[in-house]
Amino acid sequence: MIKMREKIKKLVESCKGELIELRRHFHAHPEPSFEEYETTKLIAQKLKEYGVDEIKVGCGGKASGVIATIRGLFDRPMIALRADIDALKMKEENQSIPYRSQNEGVMHACGHDAHIAVLLITAKVLAQLKGELPGSVRLIFQPAEETAAGAKEIIKAGGLDGVDAIAGLHVWAYLPSGVLGFRKGPFFAAVDRIEINVKGKGGHGAAPQFAVDPIVMASNIVLALQTIVSREVDPIEPAVVSICKIEGGTAFNIIPEEVKMVGTIRTFSPQTRERVVKRVEEISTNVAKAMRGSVEFIDYYSTPALINDPNFTEFAASVARDLFGERSVVEADINMGGEDFSLYVEKVPGTFFLLGTGNKDKGTDKAHHNPYFDVDDDALPIGVELFANIVFEFLRGGKR
Ligand SMILES: [Zn+2]
Ligand SMILES: [Zn+2]
Repeated sequence: MIKMREKIKKLVESCKGELIELRRHFHAHPEPSFEEYETTKLIAQKLKEYGVDEIKVGCGGKASGVIATIRGLFDRPMIALRADIDALKMKEENQSIPYRSQNEGVMHACGHDAHIAVLLITAKVLAQLKGELPGSVRLIFQPAEETAAGAKEIIKAGGLDGVDAIAGLHVWAYLPSGVLGFRKGPFFAAVDRIEINVKGKGGHGAAPQFAVDPIVMASNIVLALQTIVSREVDPIEPAVVSICKIEGGTAFNIIPEEVKMVGTIRTFSPQTRERVVKRVEEISTNVAKAMRGSVEFIDYYSTPALINDPNFTEFAASVARDLFGERSVVEADINMGGEDFSLYVEKVPGTFFLLGTGNKDKGTDKAHHNPYFDVDDDALPIGVELFANIVFEFLRGGKR
Protein backbone atom coordinates (compact mmCIF):
# COMPACT_ATOMS: atom_id res chain seq x y z
CA MET A 1 0.00 0.00 0.00
CA ILE A 2 2.87 2.36 0.80
CA LYS A 3 4.18 1.82 -2.72
CA MET A 4 0.80 2.63 -4.25
CA ARG A 5 0.58 5.75 -2.11
CA GLU A 6 3.91 6.95 -3.45
CA LYS A 7 2.88 6.19 -7.01
CA ILE A 8 -0.31 8.21 -6.53
CA LYS A 9 1.59 11.08 -4.96
CA LYS A 10 3.99 11.27 -7.91
CA LEU A 11 1.18 11.16 -10.45
CA VAL A 12 -0.72 13.89 -8.60
CA GLU A 13 2.38 16.08 -8.49
CA SER A 14 2.93 15.64 -12.21
CA CYS A 15 -0.67 16.77 -12.89
CA LYS A 16 -0.74 19.83 -10.62
CA GLY A 17 -0.28 22.29 -13.51
CA GLU A 18 -3.13 20.76 -15.48
CA LEU A 19 -5.32 20.61 -12.38
CA ILE A 20 -5.00 24.37 -11.80
CA GLU A 21 -5.38 25.14 -15.49
CA LEU A 22 -8.62 23.14 -15.64
CA ARG A 23 -10.01 24.75 -12.48
CA ARG A 24 -9.37 28.20 -13.89
CA HIS A 25 -10.80 27.28 -17.27
CA PHE A 26 -14.05 26.13 -15.66
CA HIS A 27 -14.05 29.23 -13.46
CA ALA A 28 -13.83 31.46 -16.53
CA HIS A 29 -16.64 29.55 -18.29
CA PRO A 30 -19.39 29.00 -15.72
CA GLU A 31 -22.82 27.65 -16.68
CA PRO A 32 -25.95 27.62 -14.49
CA SER A 33 -27.88 24.57 -13.28
CA PHE A 34 -28.93 22.17 -16.04
CA GLU A 35 -27.29 24.35 -18.69
CA GLU A 36 -23.78 22.93 -18.20
CA TYR A 37 -23.44 22.01 -21.86
CA GLU A 38 -19.92 23.25 -22.68
CA THR A 39 -18.73 22.11 -19.25
CA THR A 40 -20.10 18.64 -19.99
CA LYS A 41 -18.48 18.51 -23.41
CA LEU A 42 -15.07 19.34 -21.99
CA ILE A 43 -15.44 16.82 -19.17
CA ALA A 44 -16.31 14.05 -21.64
CA GLN A 45 -13.47 15.04 -23.94
CA LYS A 46 -10.92 15.03 -21.10
CA LEU A 47 -12.11 11.67 -19.79
CA LYS A 48 -11.70 10.18 -23.25
CA GLU A 49 -8.24 11.67 -23.52
CA TYR A 50 -7.33 10.13 -20.13
CA GLY A 51 -8.40 6.67 -21.28
CA VAL A 52 -11.61 6.28 -19.27
CA ASP A 53 -13.59 3.35 -20.72
CA GLU A 54 -17.26 4.14 -20.41
CA ILE A 55 -18.53 7.68 -20.76
CA LYS A 56 -22.25 8.41 -20.70
CA VAL A 57 -23.22 12.01 -21.39
CA GLY A 58 -26.40 13.66 -20.12
CA CYS A 59 -29.19 12.99 -17.65
CA GLY A 60 -32.74 14.17 -17.03
CA GLY A 61 -33.29 14.55 -20.77
CA LYS A 62 -30.52 17.15 -21.07
CA ALA A 63 -27.00 17.00 -22.44
CA SER A 64 -25.51 18.00 -19.13
CA GLY A 65 -23.72 15.79 -16.63
CA VAL A 66 -21.47 12.79 -17.19
CA ILE A 67 -21.57 9.29 -15.71
CA ALA A 68 -18.34 7.42 -16.45
CA THR A 69 -16.73 4.21 -15.28
CA ILE A 70 -13.12 3.12 -14.97
CA ARG A 71 -13.02 -0.68 -15.11
CA GLY A 72 -10.08 -2.09 -13.20
CA LEU A 73 -9.17 -5.76 -12.71
CA PHE A 74 -12.73 -6.61 -11.60
CA ASP A 75 -16.18 -5.07 -12.05
CA ARG A 76 -16.83 -5.15 -8.30
CA PRO A 77 -16.45 -3.75 -5.78
CA MET A 78 -17.21 -0.38 -7.27
CA ILE A 79 -16.77 2.98 -5.56
CA ALA A 80 -18.32 6.19 -6.87
CA LEU A 81 -16.81 9.67 -6.67
CA ARG A 82 -19.05 12.66 -7.27
CA ALA A 83 -18.42 16.26 -8.36
CA ASP A 84 -21.15 18.83 -8.90
CA ILE A 85 -20.58 21.02 -11.95
CA ASP A 86 -23.02 23.94 -11.94
CA ALA A 87 -22.45 27.64 -11.32
CA LEU A 88 -24.71 30.39 -9.95
CA LYS A 89 -26.63 33.16 -11.69
CA MET A 90 -24.73 36.06 -10.18
CA LYS A 91 -22.16 38.60 -11.31
CA GLU A 92 -18.52 38.09 -10.40
CA GLU A 93 -17.19 41.30 -8.85
CA ASN A 94 -13.53 40.39 -8.46
CA GLN A 95 -11.84 42.11 -11.40
CA SER A 96 -8.32 41.29 -10.22
CA ILE A 97 -8.27 37.62 -11.23
CA PRO A 98 -7.30 36.85 -14.84
CA TYR A 99 -9.61 33.81 -14.96
CA ARG A 100 -12.76 35.71 -13.91
CA SER A 101 -16.08 34.74 -15.46
CA GLN A 102 -16.48 35.37 -19.16
CA ASN A 103 -20.18 34.51 -19.02
CA GLU A 104 -21.89 37.70 -17.88
CA GLY A 105 -24.17 37.14 -14.91
CA VAL A 106 -22.97 33.61 -14.17
CA MET A 107 -20.28 32.71 -11.67
CA HIS A 108 -18.64 29.72 -10.03
CA ALA A 109 -19.19 31.20 -6.58
CA CYS A 110 -19.50 27.91 -4.71
CA GLY A 111 -16.31 26.17 -5.87
CA HIS A 112 -17.88 23.57 -8.16
CA ASP A 113 -15.22 24.54 -10.74
CA ALA A 114 -12.68 23.09 -8.30
CA HIS A 115 -14.80 19.95 -7.82
CA ILE A 116 -14.81 19.27 -11.58
CA ALA A 117 -11.04 19.77 -11.88
CA VAL A 118 -10.29 17.59 -8.83
CA LEU A 119 -12.45 14.73 -10.11
CA LEU A 120 -11.07 14.96 -13.65
CA ILE A 121 -7.47 14.75 -12.45
CA THR A 122 -8.43 11.94 -10.06
CA ALA A 123 -9.79 10.11 -13.13
CA LYS A 124 -6.54 10.76 -14.96
CA VAL A 125 -4.48 9.35 -12.08
CA LEU A 126 -6.72 6.30 -11.62
CA ALA A 127 -6.87 5.57 -15.34
CA GLN A 128 -3.08 5.32 -15.34
CA LEU A 129 -3.24 2.79 -12.50
CA LYS A 130 -6.11 0.81 -14.03
CA GLY A 131 -4.02 -2.34 -14.33
CA GLU A 132 -3.59 -2.44 -10.54
CA LEU A 133 -7.08 -1.36 -9.56
CA PRO A 134 -8.83 -4.21 -7.67
CA GLY A 135 -12.33 -3.11 -8.67
CA SER A 136 -14.00 -0.30 -10.57
CA VAL A 137 -14.63 3.41 -10.14
CA ARG A 138 -17.77 5.31 -11.09
CA LEU A 139 -17.22 8.99 -11.84
CA ILE A 140 -20.27 11.20 -11.40
CA PHE A 141 -20.19 14.74 -12.76
CA GLN A 142 -23.56 15.95 -11.52
CA PRO A 143 -25.43 18.96 -12.92
CA ALA A 144 -27.78 21.23 -10.99
CA GLU A 145 -26.69 20.82 -7.38
CA GLU A 146 -27.60 24.42 -6.54
CA THR A 147 -31.23 23.82 -7.49
CA ALA A 148 -31.25 20.37 -5.82
CA ALA A 149 -32.42 18.88 -9.11
CA GLY A 150 -29.35 17.01 -10.36
CA ALA A 151 -28.72 14.12 -7.98
CA LYS A 152 -32.11 12.52 -8.53
CA GLU A 153 -31.62 12.64 -12.31
CA ILE A 154 -28.17 11.04 -11.98
CA ILE A 155 -29.73 8.26 -9.89
CA LYS A 156 -32.53 7.78 -12.44
CA ALA A 157 -29.92 7.61 -15.20
CA GLY A 158 -28.24 4.69 -13.42
CA GLY A 159 -25.39 6.60 -11.77
CA LEU A 160 -25.47 4.39 -8.69
CA ASP A 161 -26.03 1.07 -10.48
CA GLY A 162 -23.46 -1.44 -9.27
CA VAL A 163 -22.00 1.04 -6.78
CA ASP A 164 -20.98 -0.20 -3.30
CA ALA A 165 -19.95 3.11 -1.71
CA ILE A 166 -19.66 6.79 -2.59
CA ALA A 167 -17.48 9.74 -1.64
CA GLY A 168 -17.79 13.43 -2.44
CA LEU A 169 -16.08 16.61 -1.35
CA HIS A 170 -16.80 20.31 -1.13
CA VAL A 171 -14.08 22.96 -1.08
CA TRP A 172 -14.64 25.06 2.04
CA ALA A 173 -13.64 28.70 2.49
CA TYR A 174 -14.30 28.56 6.24
CA LEU A 175 -11.55 25.98 6.84
CA PRO A 176 -7.86 26.87 6.44
CA SER A 177 -6.32 25.74 3.16
CA GLY A 178 -5.45 22.07 3.15
CA VAL A 179 -7.42 21.14 6.27
CA LEU A 180 -9.93 18.32 5.80
CA GLY A 181 -13.26 18.25 7.65
CA PHE A 182 -15.19 15.04 8.28
CA ARG A 183 -18.41 14.45 10.14
CA LYS A 184 -20.15 11.18 10.98
CA GLY A 185 -23.95 11.06 10.86
CA PRO A 186 -26.07 14.20 10.30
CA PHE A 187 -24.09 16.84 8.39
CA PHE A 188 -26.22 19.02 6.05
CA ALA A 189 -29.87 19.87 6.77
CA ALA A 190 -33.11 18.79 5.13
CA VAL A 191 -34.48 21.63 3.01
CA ASP A 192 -38.13 22.70 2.60
CA ARG A 193 -39.13 25.72 0.55
CA ILE A 194 -42.43 27.18 1.72
CA GLU A 195 -44.96 29.60 0.29
CA ILE A 196 -47.59 31.30 2.40
CA ASN A 197 -50.21 33.30 0.51
CA VAL A 198 -52.12 35.48 2.96
CA LYS A 199 -55.54 36.48 1.73
CA GLY A 200 -57.62 39.39 2.98
CA LYS A 201 -59.93 41.93 1.40
CA GLY A 202 -58.62 45.04 -0.32
CA GLY A 203 -59.77 48.53 0.49
CA HIS A 204 -58.85 52.14 1.15
CA GLY A 205 -55.90 52.80 3.44
CA ALA A 206 -57.98 55.41 5.24
CA ALA A 207 -60.90 53.04 5.84
CA PRO A 208 -59.47 49.80 7.28
CA GLN A 209 -62.83 48.93 8.84
CA PHE A 210 -64.14 47.97 5.38
CA ALA A 211 -61.07 45.88 4.50
CA VAL A 212 -59.33 42.75 5.82
CA ASP A 213 -55.68 43.75 5.91
CA PRO A 214 -53.30 40.99 4.74
CA ILE A 215 -50.23 43.13 5.55
CA VAL A 216 -51.02 43.17 9.25
CA MET A 217 -51.83 39.45 9.09
CA ALA A 218 -48.53 38.67 7.36
CA SER A 219 -46.62 40.72 9.94
CA ASN A 220 -48.22 38.76 12.78
CA ILE A 221 -47.59 35.46 11.02
CA VAL A 222 -43.85 36.21 10.59
CA LEU A 223 -43.51 36.93 14.31
CA ALA A 224 -45.68 34.00 15.42
CA LEU A 225 -43.65 31.58 13.29
CA GLN A 226 -40.56 32.50 15.28
CA THR A 227 -42.04 30.78 18.32
CA ILE A 228 -41.84 27.36 16.65
CA VAL A 229 -38.07 27.04 16.97
CA SER A 230 -37.81 29.04 20.20
CA ARG A 231 -40.76 27.45 22.07
CA GLU A 232 -41.69 24.16 20.43
CA VAL A 233 -38.52 22.45 19.19
CA ASP A 234 -36.11 20.77 21.61
CA PRO A 235 -33.34 23.37 22.22
CA ILE A 236 -30.63 20.83 21.40
CA GLU A 237 -32.29 19.84 18.11
CA PRO A 238 -31.22 21.98 15.11
CA ALA A 239 -34.05 23.73 13.23
CA VAL A 240 -34.54 27.00 11.32
CA VAL A 241 -37.66 28.77 10.07
CA SER A 242 -36.90 31.83 7.89
CA ILE A 243 -39.29 33.99 5.91
CA CYS A 244 -37.02 35.50 3.28
CA LYS A 245 -39.35 37.34 0.93
CA ILE A 246 -42.60 39.27 1.44
CA GLU A 247 -44.51 40.69 -1.48
CA GLY A 248 -47.68 42.73 -1.24
CA GLY A 249 -49.24 46.10 -1.88
CA THR A 250 -49.06 48.68 -4.63
CA ALA A 251 -49.57 52.17 -3.21
CA PHE A 252 -49.52 54.21 0.03
CA ASN A 253 -53.30 54.34 0.35
CA ILE A 254 -54.45 50.90 -0.84
CA ILE A 255 -54.86 47.91 1.42
CA PRO A 256 -54.05 44.96 -0.88
CA GLU A 257 -56.02 41.76 -1.33
CA GLU A 258 -53.08 39.45 -0.84
CA VAL A 259 -49.53 39.15 0.52
CA LYS A 260 -47.17 36.43 -0.68
CA MET A 261 -44.43 35.13 1.59
CA VAL A 262 -41.63 32.75 0.70
CA GLY A 263 -39.20 31.09 3.06
CA THR A 264 -37.37 27.99 4.12
CA ILE A 265 -37.42 25.34 6.84
CA ARG A 266 -34.20 23.51 7.75
CA THR A 267 -34.19 20.46 10.01
CA PHE A 268 -32.36 17.17 10.56
CA SER A 269 -34.66 14.56 12.04
CA PRO A 270 -37.68 13.53 9.94
CA GLN A 271 -39.90 13.84 13.04
CA THR A 272 -38.81 17.43 13.68
CA ARG A 273 -39.21 18.24 10.01
CA GLU A 274 -42.75 16.92 9.88
CA ARG A 275 -43.70 18.72 13.08
CA VAL A 276 -42.20 22.09 12.06
CA VAL A 277 -43.86 22.01 8.63
CA LYS A 278 -47.20 21.15 10.24
CA ARG A 279 -46.88 23.93 12.83
CA VAL A 280 -45.94 26.55 10.20
CA GLU A 281 -49.15 25.69 8.40
CA GLU A 282 -51.27 25.64 11.57
CA ILE A 283 -49.92 28.90 12.97
CA SER A 284 -50.21 30.77 9.65
CA THR A 285 -53.73 29.47 9.08
CA ASN A 286 -54.96 30.29 12.56
CA VAL A 287 -53.32 33.71 12.88
CA ALA A 288 -54.94 34.66 9.57
CA LYS A 289 -58.26 33.21 10.72
CA ALA A 290 -58.14 35.17 13.96
CA MET A 291 -57.79 38.30 11.87
CA ARG A 292 -60.65 37.38 9.49
CA GLY A 293 -58.42 36.26 6.65
CA SER A 294 -57.14 33.00 5.24
CA VAL A 295 -53.93 31.38 4.12
CA GLU A 296 -52.85 29.12 1.30
CA PHE A 297 -49.82 27.14 2.44
CA ILE A 298 -47.57 25.23 0.02
CA ASP A 299 -44.59 23.13 1.11
CA TYR A 300 -41.97 21.98 -1.39
CA TYR A 301 -39.77 19.30 0.17
CA SER A 302 -36.44 19.76 -1.56
CA THR A 303 -33.77 17.41 -0.20
CA PRO A 304 -33.48 15.17 2.86
CA ALA A 305 -30.76 15.70 5.45
CA LEU A 306 -27.31 14.46 4.48
CA ILE A 307 -26.43 11.65 6.88
CA ASN A 308 -22.86 10.40 6.47
CA ASP A 309 -22.30 6.69 7.04
CA PRO A 310 -20.30 6.55 10.31
CA ASN A 311 -18.10 3.58 9.32
CA PHE A 312 -17.28 4.82 5.84
CA THR A 313 -16.62 8.32 7.21
CA GLU A 314 -14.22 6.93 9.82
CA PHE A 315 -12.52 4.90 7.08
CA ALA A 316 -12.10 7.98 4.82
CA ALA A 317 -10.90 10.16 7.72
CA SER A 318 -8.35 7.52 8.72
CA VAL A 319 -7.00 7.45 5.14
CA ALA A 320 -6.72 11.26 5.34
CA ARG A 321 -4.93 11.12 8.71
CA ASP A 322 -2.46 8.52 7.39
CA LEU A 323 -1.71 10.65 4.33
CA PHE A 324 -1.62 14.17 5.74
CA GLY A 325 -1.24 13.79 9.52
CA GLU A 326 -3.58 14.13 12.50
CA ARG A 327 -3.41 17.92 12.47
CA SER A 328 -4.78 18.19 8.94
CA VAL A 329 -8.03 16.42 9.83
CA VAL A 330 -10.77 18.02 11.93
CA GLU A 331 -14.38 17.28 12.82
CA ALA A 332 -16.53 19.49 10.58
CA ASP A 333 -19.40 21.48 12.11
CA ILE A 334 -22.99 20.56 11.41
CA ASN A 335 -24.40 22.78 8.63
CA MET A 336 -27.95 24.10 8.09
CA GLY A 337 -27.28 24.39 4.35
CA GLY A 338 -28.62 21.74 1.98
CA GLU A 339 -26.67 19.38 -0.30
CA ASP A 340 -28.31 16.88 -2.65
CA PHE A 341 -25.45 14.44 -2.11
CA SER A 342 -27.89 13.33 0.61
CA LEU A 343 -29.83 11.36 -2.02
CA TYR A 344 -26.80 9.21 -2.84
CA VAL A 345 -26.05 8.33 0.80
CA GLU A 346 -29.68 7.33 1.22
CA LYS A 347 -28.99 4.58 -1.32
CA VAL A 348 -25.39 3.48 -0.66
CA PRO A 349 -23.01 3.99 2.28
CA GLY A 350 -20.81 6.99 1.76
CA THR A 351 -19.33 10.20 3.02
CA PHE A 352 -19.27 13.85 2.04
CA PHE A 353 -16.29 15.80 3.39
CA LEU A 354 -14.82 19.30 3.26
CA LEU A 355 -11.52 20.42 1.79
CA GLY A 356 -10.35 23.73 3.29
CA THR A 357 -9.45 26.39 0.71
CA GLY A 358 -9.59 29.46 2.96
CA ASN A 359 -6.47 31.61 2.77
CA LYS A 360 -6.77 35.25 3.81
CA ASP A 361 -3.52 36.30 2.09
CA LYS A 362 -4.79 34.92 -1.21
CA GLY A 363 -8.28 36.36 -0.69
CA THR A 364 -9.88 32.91 -0.78
CA ASP A 365 -11.60 33.27 2.58
CA LYS A 366 -14.76 34.90 1.16
CA ALA A 367 -18.07 33.22 1.86
CA HIS A 368 -19.53 30.76 -0.64
CA HIS A 369 -22.02 32.52 -2.97
CA ASN A 370 -20.22 35.84 -2.35
CA PRO A 371 -19.40 37.77 -5.59
CA TYR A 372 -15.70 37.77 -4.59
CA PHE A 373 -15.52 34.04 -3.83
CA ASP A 374 -12.40 32.24 -5.07
CA VAL A 375 -10.56 29.00 -4.37
CA ASP A 376 -6.97 28.43 -3.22
CA ASP A 377 -5.73 26.20 -6.02
CA ASP A 378 -2.77 24.98 -3.97
CA ALA A 379 -5.14 22.95 -1.80
CA LEU A 380 -6.63 21.01 -4.71
CA PRO A 381 -3.94 18.31 -5.11
CA ILE A 382 -4.86 17.19 -1.58
CA GLY A 383 -8.36 16.42 -2.80
CA VAL A 384 -7.05 14.37 -5.73
CA GLU A 385 -4.58 12.45 -3.58
CA LEU A 386 -7.21 11.68 -0.97
CA PHE A 387 -9.84 10.60 -3.53
CA ALA A 388 -7.35 8.27 -5.26
CA ASN A 389 -6.20 6.70 -1.98
CA ILE A 390 -9.77 6.26 -0.70
CA VAL A 391 -10.52 4.41 -3.94
CA PHE A 392 -7.55 2.04 -3.66
CA GLU A 393 -8.00 1.29 0.03
CA PHE A 394 -11.73 0.75 -0.33
CA LEU A 395 -11.37 -1.54 -3.35
CA ARG A 396 -8.71 -3.55 -1.54
CA GLY A 397 -11.31 -4.24 1.11
CA GLY A 398 -9.47 -2.31 3.76
CA LYS A 399 -11.09 -0.66 6.75
CA ARG A 400 -14.76 0.12 6.16
ZN1 LIG B 1 -23.59 26.57 -3.46
ZN1 LIG C 1 -21.68 24.02 -3.50
